[in-house]
Amino acid sequence: MDKKEICSILDQKTDFLNSISDQIWETPELAFTERASAQVLIKALKKEGFEVSSPIAGIETAFSGRFGSGRPVIGFLGEFDALSSLNQRAGISQKAADQPGGCGHGCGHNNLGVGSLAAAIGVKAYLEATGKPGTVVFYGCPGEEGGSGKAFMAREGVFDELDCAFCWHPGTTNAVTSGSSLANYQILYSFTGVSAHAAGAPHLGRSALDAVELMNVGVNFLREHVIQEARMHYAIVNSGGFSPNVVQPTADVLYLLRAPVTSQVQEIYERVNDIAKGAALMTGTSVEIKFIKACSNTVLNATLEKVLFDNMNQIPLPEYTEEDYAFAKAINESVENRAPSFERLIKRAPSEEIIRFLKEREGREINDFVVPLIHSEQAGGGSTDVGDVSWVCPTAQISTATWASATPGHSWQIVAQGKSALAHKSTLYAGKVLAAAAIDLWEHPELIEQAKEEKNRKLDGASYRCPIPKGVIPTPMGKM
Ligand SMILES: [Zn+2]
Repeated sequence: MDKKEICSILDQKTDFLNSISDQIWETPELAFTERASAQVLIKALKKEGFEVSSPIAGIETAFSGRFGSGRPVIGFLGEFDALSSLNQRAGISQKAADQPGGCGHGCGHNNLGVGSLAAAIGVKAYLEATGKPGTVVFYGCPGEEGGSGKAFMAREGVFDELDCAFCWHPGTTNAVTSGSSLANYQILYSFTGVSAHAAGAPHLGRSALDAVELMNVGVNFLREHVIQEARMHYAIVNSGGFSPNVVQPTADVLYLLRAPVTSQVQEIYERVNDIAKGAALMTGTSVEIKFIKACSNTVLNATLEKVLFDNMNQIPLPEYTEEDYAFAKAINESVENRAPSFERLIKRAPSEEIIRFLKEREGREINDFVVPLIHSEQAGGGSTDVGDVSWVCPTAQISTATWASATPGHSWQIVAQGKSALAHKSTLYAGKVLAAAAIDLWEHPELIEQAKEEKNRKLDGASYRCPIPKGVIPTPMGKM
């Protein structure tokens, strides 16, 4: 069975796959509360003949579906969580929510889960037709947004069985994902003081809100004395009430600390803890430090990136209609503060030729081409829990042009396009490319060995240590 036949099997399942991503779009759920979305995917896996395990890793909404036996074991990572406050009607190019303030699929994870599912279905068909030994596993990975679900799963050894893993993410270009991602820690600092009448008896009060403010001041001074690439963000998630005439007895601040590698985050974390303790001491309050989650930097794998790139070129790109281009144009026109096209890719491009290639294609409504292969070890600004999987087994990712070219990340425009023909077609394309790449690993097992050698070389003897301490359990989004 060749890749063409796999593609036509997946083409026949287009309506089925689209209906799954649409159902997930319609029930947007936040990190670790994705019960309905997980069920939609579990039902689909069962219908397709996968053996489902649910829950796994002690996480209610984590699951897997497997087919086959023996080696190699190739995994596809699927996400399905949504974002808060991004509710938006589908198929329009104006901001309009059906449920103002509600959740929405502002990162395209309704498509992400289904593209990876399609890949698993494609590989299952290949294994059935060829009778080759080996196992394909789809992992339902909850809580990517602010939750590091895969890091919790990796801590429990879920990915230890894998020879290689593939993943994709909706985006504005068809490209192999280049560049590493930052390691991060998320920590909740909860201060407790004593309430009092703010005018009548202020000397009896000890303000937890003062402590939060002093802590933030301390961290803002710390910025000058950490490595350039570090990022420190915070959100005051409890300011101690709404009454200025009451000394606030409680206040909580959530911190997100990032740096290129985990050891650097750990070092900053310890200094931030000292600042929190100092703020408590200054204000006569106490502080509780609760570790929420963490993720590792990504270990890139050029061997698997090349396999993905070759397949992006072998598998026919989606064909877009006049309507697809017109909708993309309307979406692009709705974007204020458009970032320059291909900014990040151009920065990482290794040759003038690639820069020219990209510049010639600037301004297209849909980036309907494959970006030349760019391998860069440079870390971008963000983080992903795919990083933890990449420490366990060779891992690589692609993006596909799921959205109009100017679509910003985590935006209402993404939600508006989540059920569009553009999103559906590019999700299917992602599934075909990932399936085809996995088939290459079955046909050329030496690629798996090369990918493993590369990973071992990069880790230089180090093995994966989950940055999330034992005993820390996933916190559902919004339930800090
Ligand atoms: Zn995402």
